[in-house]
Amino acid sequence: MTAYPHLLAPLDLGFTTLKNRVLMGSMHTGLEETKDWNRVAEFYADRARGEVGLMVTGGIGPNLEGSVLPGAAMMVSDQDIANHQIVTQRVHDAGGKIAMQILHAGRYAYGPACVAPSPVKSPISPFAPTALDSAGIEKQIADIVATAQRAQQAGYDGVEIMGSEGYFLNQFLVTHTNKREDEWGGSYENRMRLPIEVVRRTRAAVGRNFIIIYRLSMIDLVPNGSSFDEVVQLAQEIEKAGATIINTGIGWHEARIPTIATSVPRAAFAWVTKKLMGQVSIPVITSNRINTPDVAESVLADGCADMVSMARPMLADADFVAKAKAGKAETIAPCIACNQACLDHTFGGKISSCLVNPRACYETELTITPADVKKSIAVVGAGPAGLSAAITAAQRGHKVTLIDRADDIGGQLNIAKQVPGKEEFWGLVDWYRTMVADLGIDVRLGTTATADMLGGFDQVVIATGVQPRDPQIPGQDAPQVLSYVDVLANKAPVGATVAIIGAGGIGFDVAEYLVHDGQSPSENLPEWMREWGVSDPSVHRAGLAPQGPQPAPPARKVTLLQRKAEKPGKRLGKTTGWIHRAALSMKGVTMVGGVNYEEITKDGILVSYGAARENPTVIQAETIVLCAGQLSDRSLADALIAKGIQPHVIGGADVAAELDAKRAIDQGTRLAATL
Ligand code: FAD
Ligand code: NAP
Ligand code: SF4
Repeated sequence: MTAYPHLLAPLDLGFTTLKNRVLMGSMHTGLEETKDWNRVAEFYADRARGEVGLMVTGGIGPNLEGSVLPGAAMMVSDQDIANHQIVTQRVHDAGGKIAMQILHAGRYAYGPACVAPSPVKSPISPFAPTALDSAGIEKQIADIVATAQRAQQAGYDGVEIMGSEGYFLNQFLVTHTNKREDEWGGSYENRMRLPIEVVRRTRAAVGRNFIIIYRLSMIDLVPNGSSFDEVVQLAQEIEKAGATIINTGIGWHEARIPTIATSVPRAAFAWVTKKLMGQVSIPVITSNRINTPDVAESVLADGCADMVSMARPMLADADFVAKAKAGKAETIAPCIACNQACLDHTFGGKISSCLVNPRACYETELTITPADVKKSIAVVGAGPAGLSAAITAAQRGHKVTLIDRADDIGGQLNIAKQVPGKEEFWGLVDWYRTMVADLGIDVRLGTTATADMLGGFDQVVIATGVQPRDPQIPGQDAPQVLSYVDVLANKAPVGATVAIIGAGGIGFDVAEYLVHDGQSPSENLPEWMREWGVSDPSVHRAGLAPQGPQPAPPARKVTLLQRKAEKPGKRLGKTTGWIHRAALSMKGVTMVGGVNYEEITKDGILVSYGAARENPTVIQAETIVLCAGQLSDRSLADALIAKGIQPHVIGGADVAAELDAKRAIDQGTRLAATL
């Protein structure tokens, strides 16, 4: 008897059956653009072997004007068909099913050739689109249909037509972006004509036995977005036009409400999909922040959807479904929704991967194979660098001893998980604990390693992490001055007014911790919805609460300081930095750049501004928290070298600048793959 009867139940689509209710949602990984089709095929085949029910590829453009970026993958030629055949063949050989997403970006296309219903520029693009005339619209439909036909020739089991997230088809639906007065604009019947025509003509072209998923925006989260009556009306028309499945889209890309970041509660939008259940007779998929089999199962058991889309969790662990099926869910590497190696890479023009699984999208390059010679390996430091090295080395057959002076594994992850909105780090540490036990690693906690203890091992890996940087500010020895470790480990009381020295990732996290009181909104959906101004789309158009965001009052008055003259938080994650900045602004946090720290006094901290140290000002604060960066802790590595033992040094112990868990895990995994 499985713990996941709903999740693992097959889904009969009439002409074909999916083996379970898990869809791997579309992700733009950048793999297709590498043109290394063996690599693309291996990425998808790995997930097919992991038994996901159906996969959707990253968005493939139907023509130049609709492609997300210049150079983005398209399906427009016989060569494209041949390339994609390599992928579909490999997936089918592995027993999987795969649909190709057709993505027309409309005014979100990053280039001057972009087209849209009306010439309304998007706030997230520098390019104003050209309004299409009737012939132009007909061309877009024809191109999308032809792309679907080519996908069918390439061996795909279906296509997903991207109609949400504010892309081309979505842009026709709402008056904010569709100002037309012809048959494609004006009334809602006219505005929804394009998506319906696209589905109708695609179905006519591909025949009955081909999956057509339509991704439909169920809550736009932008002003003048669709009402829920319109959503239902569209879904019913899309069903009539021949779609096989309706998938959920949440929020336009330009929405100022987070929809997939780690601070968004798990399954935060499943209730929106549930509102469509019973309104159409084809299967409905729900999506967003579903990252464990338990969450997915409860969403399905609650009747929120017929199927669940999980995208990033399939980067974190290709074997997600297979492990759930085998009753080993606790061994699934969890997606912590950080976006650090997936979406941030995509938006930075890099190939996606995964913070917890550096093999994601690198399946052909980073291989973990049994070691030719089994060695005894000591790993000092059970932070993410040491843990990933220890696990990978043990997977390869080495005998691993993992030493940490703390009473638990996890290193700084145990500090990070205290921050409201970072609760997913608890699951990551739990997963490491499971893996360390499963692999029989000899763990020695509460043990400070010394050079003398490490002489008997074949190899020594030093992952001793970092020390907080001493900013050497006059007066910093006063009792009201605390380090971020003291604060996040709740070792000392913090006053009602606080100045934070340093506005890096940790400074922002400490501010978040200090302005919150009680339960984290990330674990309280109604509170989170109030905080960000999310409402029921049947009550308020597009799901925007008319009163806007209503966060709980801040628990403290916090001032966040940095010396650089730039905007604080500018260097935070590409896709999440705005959320951190907005969240703190809503809590009244004052962020000040360009300061010099003159002296800590009993009233707060005296700062001046600019190179001339002008305008001395006391920032009133009962408590000062130091978050001034970190330096490598190499003391043990240096002691070993002095004894003639050459260790491998990884993570923060190697380089502290711009260190994060992504680099620590990547470095640990890659090192251990070669030991
Ligand atoms: P550490 O995690 O520092 O681990 C080092 C370990 O070595 C420790 O457990 C220590 O006890 C042990 N040790 C040291 N010396 C000895 C010795 N002689 N003997 C035995 N044991 C020893 N990163 C992200 O990517 N995303 C985030 O969202 C994020 N948020 C963060 C939030 C906070 C509040 C903090 C503090 C950090 C955050 N980080 C985040 C950073 C991330 O946690 C670190 O980059 C990462 O933990 C560094 O990994 P590491 O293994 O090199 O070192
Ligand atoms: P950081 O991001 O490098 O920030 C350090 C801060 O300290 C900066 O604001 C810096 O700004 C200031 N600073 C540096 N030297 C100083 C000095 N001598 N005196 C006073 N201030 C000084 O480092 P961090 O905040 O300590 O974070 C450590 C690592 O963890 C980072 O690499 C970060 O990426 C990672 N992390 C990531 C996340 C995430 O969400 N992805 C969250 C937390 C931490 P000025 O020099 O301008 O004053
Ligand atoms: Fe999930 Fe972070 Fe990995 Fe992306 S990088 S898949 S968000 S864990």
